[in-house]
Amino acid sequence: MSESIPQRFSDLASLRRSVADWRRAGERVVLVPTMGALHEGHLALVAEGRRIGRRVVASIFVNPTQFGPNEDFSRYPRDLAADLALLGRAGADAAWTPAVETMYPPGFSTRIDVAGLTEGLCGPFRPGHFSGVATVVTKLLNQVGPDTALFGEKDFQQLRVIQQAVADLDLPVEIQGVPTVREADGLAMSSRNRYLSPEERALAPRLHAVLTEIVATTRSGTLVAAAIAEGRAALEAAGFQVQYLAVCDARTLAPVERVDGPARVLVAAFLGRTRLIDNVAV
Ligand code: AMP
Repeated sequence: MSESIPQRFSDLASLRRSVADWRRAGERVVLVPTMGALHEGHLALVAEGRRIGRRVVASIFVNPTQFGPNEDFSRYPRDLAADLALLGRAGADAAWTPAVETMYPPGFSTRIDVAGLTEGLCGPFRPGHFSGVATVVTKLLNQVGPDTALFGEKDFQQLRVIQQAVADLDLPVEIQGVPTVREADGLAMSSRNRYLSPEERALAPRLHAVLTEIVATTRSGTLVAAAIAEGRAALEAAGFQVQYLAVCDARTLAPVERVDGPARVLVAAFLGRTRLIDNVAV
């Protein structure tokens, strides 16, 4: 495994030249899109990229168009030097770090909207978010031209939205999900966990605990509605402000009343000012 700092590209033409050289040499190229502030979850995607491909490109771009006006774009953690060192240790070959003006030059006018999958869960709470995500990911896929792009199941709705956009637009890339990496106490790793106060950090693992309780109770026959009501009450009693807690079909993301096929239990909740999301397979 290479331990050096990955080659950093901020210019699209030079990135494309390198990727074209790799692909001409028959090397499989994997893209890992990120917003930086990297942690073990992101590094698991890089490790999976190394496993399935020969070249791993990680993009680092805090995409302004996927943040709402009252969200944390300006305070989102940014530490490029640390990110590059981590990517080097994880064995990434290249870091694509475009400037905002490179992604959105004056006059930029196009948006990708995925209907259906974006209507529930995070959709209503984050208007425009998935449009920003689908648009930036489509651009990243077109810029890098990877064989495969990896996304975390941590952002399950995002993964499904991207799979749908790629299928609908016939983009020549395989989209693959990677299981969520968690802290020892179950908390899903997230760049936003660093916002949590020590008290909030101590409470945060309840989120995953409630999800696994819902999996257990719905599997043993408890109705989804009852399991969710109980889970929501437990979270609110612990100090979370729950935006949604739902059991959904794993493909359509439509809420289900009983579990009789692949399903997912998903949650979004605020702990103080920090919005946390998580999900597990049922
Ligand atoms: P972000 O930088 O938050 O946009 O995340 C970049 C990619 O890393 C997305 O595909 C996320 O789903 C994925 N990711 C974030 N956290 C985790 C985690 N704890 N485990 C696995 N993948 C993750």
